This record gives sequence, structure tokens and C-alpha cells, in this order.
Amino acid sequence: MRYLDSFEIVKLVEELCIEANIRLPEDVADGLVKAKEHEQSLYGQAVLDDLLQNVEIARKEKMPLCQDCGMTVVFVDWGQEVLLVGKSLQESVDEGVRRAYLGSYLRRSVVSDPLYDRKNTGDNTPAVVHLRFVEGSEVKITVVPKGMGSENASALAMLSPGEGEEGVIDFVKDVVARKGQNACPPLVVGVGIGGNFESAPILAKRALLRPIGCRSADERYARLEEKMLRHVNELGLGPGGYGGKVTVLDVLVEFMPTHIAGLPVAVNISCNATRHAGGRLKGREL
Ligand code: SF4
Repeated sequence: MRYLDSFEIVKLVEELCIEANIRLPEDVADGLVKAKEHEQSLYGQAVLDDLLQNVEIARKEKMPLCQDCGMTVVFVDWGQEVLLVGKSLQESVDEGVRRAYLGSYLRRSVVSDPLYDRKNTGDNTPAVVHLRFVEGSEVKITVVPKGMGSENASALAMLSPGEGEEGVIDFVKDVVARKGQNACPPLVVGVGIGGNFESAPILAKRALLRPIGCRSADERYARLEEKMLRHVNELGLGPGGYGGKVTVLDVLVEFMPTHIAGLPVAVNISCNATRHAGGRLKGREL
């Protein structure tokens, strides 16, 4: 058995929140560069120029990539040989988020009550934590600051199995066509297929963590990703929604087993600021 002091989680989450907000992952930045080479619309090219300049300024000046520094989503893969000592996981993650958002002047965007008071919690907590236990003695943490413009464009459908591949493609296309232009394209589209009502959206969000251009290991789903990428780009929304060839940088699919009577499909839209940062902690000898 090994242990991890909760303060190590606080420190790592703080670092990752700052890194994710100021440094666009290389694969997304490269995706924007390739989009610029491919895009023919003049407005689209101008948007991509601005976005690439924004990426550089954020990196150099250590400024947030976007004014919406997101609701903080944290994926934790916890090695089951590790014991957490000190505060709870949620408290530790929230403390890391609090320190990052207050200390680095990141915009705090979380309200305590969704319907009535809508009072800002003042420190961007609580974070949304997705925990799963894995083998080993390591803890892997990935922080995803997720803006609400792109969350608002996301959707879930409980398709019937007979709708098959065509139903999935139509749904993904429809979601992007209806709200994609409000989500700051070019987009990255995460698609979760299978599971049930609550697991498909988490799969879709996990899909956004895969590097752009990294195809599914399953050839059938890899082909589906390529097909959906083509279909969605044919919509012609273009960078910034001003028209053009590049509406999305990629479509990434994660899937899992489901019930005989169902075909859940979730589409989690992400924007040109598809941000995430990850790190690992090793459990210490008890
Ligand atoms: S959708 Fe993305 S780029 Fe647009 S405001 Fe929200 S976080 Fe920023």
C-alpha cells in the first residue's frame, strides 16, 4: 500500500488549471495551423490568423486563452494501491481550483444555485470531478476548463438501435448545424456512443482528451470519425461561423457496451480553445 498527501493534489490541480488556461495543447494549435492552410474563405482565414495570434500572446504573456475560463472538469484515474491522506478528493481538487482562479486572475464563472440565486461562488468551485479506479500506484489528473458556450451547444439523444450509423451521423450533423456557430468554431466534436443516459456524455467529454487526428483504435469507429468529419465540414459554417471549409478540426469517438434496446449518443462540442492539461502523482511508501 502507498499513500498520497492531499496537498499534492491541491498543488497539481492548481498548476494544471493555470497551464490549461494559458497554453493551448500542441495538437489543437497544430490543427489551427493546418486549418489555415486548408481554409479558402477570406473571413475564415482572418479568424484563424487572430486565433493563432491569440494562442501566441496567451503563451508568452501567461494570459488566459479566453475570457471564459470555464467550469473546471477534472478527470482522475486513481491507482487502487494508493491511500489518500488528509482532505477528501473533492476538497483537495476544489482547493487547487480556488488557488489557481484567485491567484492567477482567471475568470470565476460558477454560480452556487442554478435556478434561483445564481450567486457567483467567487472562486470557480466546485469542480466537476470524474473518478475511476485503475490498477497501480499512480494518480493521473487531467484538468479541462470547459466554457459554457460550447457546453450549451452539446446534446444527448437516446436513439433506437435500428437508427444505426446513419442515425448517429445525422444527429451529430444536426447538433453542429443548429448551435455550432455559437460555440466559437473551428470546433472539436467529442462523441460518446453506448452506455446509458449518464455515461454517454462522459464518454463524449473523454473523447475530447484524445489528440486531434488520433483515430479510434477500432477501425470501424475510426472510419466513422473520418466520415463524420467530412459530413460536418460540409455544413460550411467555417471559422467563427463566417462560412468556410473548416467548421471542425476533428470528430473523436469513444464507445462502450450498451443495452439491447438502446443506442445513446452524446455530442460534446468543444471550441477553438479546446483546453486540457494533465499530470501524474506517485504514491509514497507507507
Ligand atoms: S466557446 Fe470557447 S472560445 Fe468561445 S467563449 Fe466559450 S470558452 Fe471561449
